[in-house]
Amino acid sequence: MINVAILGSTGSIGTQTLEVIAANPDLFRVRVLTAYSNHSLLRQQIERFRPDFAVLTSDRAAQTFREAGVPAGLRFAQGEGCLLEAAAYPTADIVVNSLVGFAGLAPSIACINAGKTLAIANKETLVAAGDLVMKLAAAKQVKVVPVDSEHSAIAQCLAGETASAVKRLLLTASGGPFRGRKLPEIAQVSLAECLKHPNWSMGRKITIDSATLMNKGLEVIEARWLFDVDYERIDVVVHPQSIVHSMVEFVDGSVKGQLGLPDMKLPIQYALNQGVRLDSAFTRLDFTQALTLTFEPPDLDTFRALPLAYEAGRRGGTFPCVMNAANEIGVQAFIDGKIGFVGMYDVVEHVLNQHQGSSSPDLAAYMAADDWARQAAEKYINKVVR
Ligand code: NAD
Ligand code: MG
Repeated sequence: MINVAILGSTGSIGTQTLEVIAANPDLFRVRVLTAYSNHSLLRQQIERFRPDFAVLTSDRAAQTFREAGVPAGLRFAQGEGCLLEAAAYPTADIVVNSLVGFAGLAPSIACINAGKTLAIANKETLVAAGDLVMKLAAAKQVKVVPVDSEHSAIAQCLAGETASAVKRLLLTASGGPFRGRKLPEIAQVSLAECLKHPNWSMGRKITIDSATLMNKGLEVIEARWLFDVDYERIDVVVHPQSIVHSMVEFVDGSVKGQLGLPDMKLPIQYALNQGVRLDSAFTRLDFTQALTLTFEPPDLDTFRALPLAYEAGRRGGTFPCVMNAANEIGVQAFIDGKIGFVGMYDVVEHVLNQHQGSSSPDLAAYMAADDWARQAAEKYINKVVR
């Protein structure tokens, strides 16, 4: 039996993780669930999966939850600090971090310090502090397993291979809803258009990141740390059908890819069972029907997030952390209608240009850089809006 903690159980990845667990009740047991404010869904999940411990980070939601009664046998806590306890909870073996944004970093570190396997959906953990997180995981002999579909695909391609055989990683990108459009057109797009992803149904932030291609930029940095491959050997290929989830090119010229219909449950299951394949009822590719797969280079002039992410990644230190924070603020400002689509790139570029980086940062330095970048981004947005 594998005992699972899910941080962010009410979100897109969280609910799909519970679907995988529900389909394999003899293999997986839920021990910990956390959510931000959706107390009614959390309660349903608690009643169904009977965890030992549950957290609501919003005090207001927690208050409502308590008033309706804490289920018998459950330990319940509230507030963001309790995510650290959830990530290190004694009865769990593996922690699925499906929180959104930089808020996922401290729980990831708590999980590693507690010696538990970290199944990482929260890519922002590795973007902000990948160096520190992977060093800590190595020191504690903790496995960090990818949940992101591209990184799961790469892990599947690398199974049975040696590091010296790898020439490059090829991350595939759908290109998002605005693929093929140029600057004047994307400058005008609305929030509603951004939220219509062609192939995947996901949380709001990652859906907007997919439209700007910042998501792919974050994933390049995520791949750099998960697989210890430098940026010169990580390429992005646009593949609109989202069937090839990513590829690895080897020194002999051979290319391996992992294919499947777009369904996060497959990478989630592969991560939960730590690389051992399980039978599944997921809808499968049907090669008796015509299937066309196409590949094209990304349009780096229009979708500036991708070159910005490579630049931040190459500069290293606190630059990717700062980029991530500026992007979080930029995405929120776009959601709030304060800036337009291209404004999200401008915020990130402005904050990166202002940043005095520090090399070999410790956790406190990453926290300070994140904080600084949020303020710098807010300041820039307020100036632009006025
Ligand atoms: P989501 O918005 O659907 O869910 C986020 C979950 O985290 C919710 O349960 C929410 O209550 C909780 N949460 C959010 N912010 C919080 C905070 N500050 N404190 C405490 N709890 C908080 O997001 P998602 O789409 O499931 O994405 C989760 C992570 O997985 C992101 O890092 C995303 O980039 C990554 N990811 C998602 C997908 C996908 O298909 N959805 C695919 C690959 C990677
Ligand atoms: Mg992905």
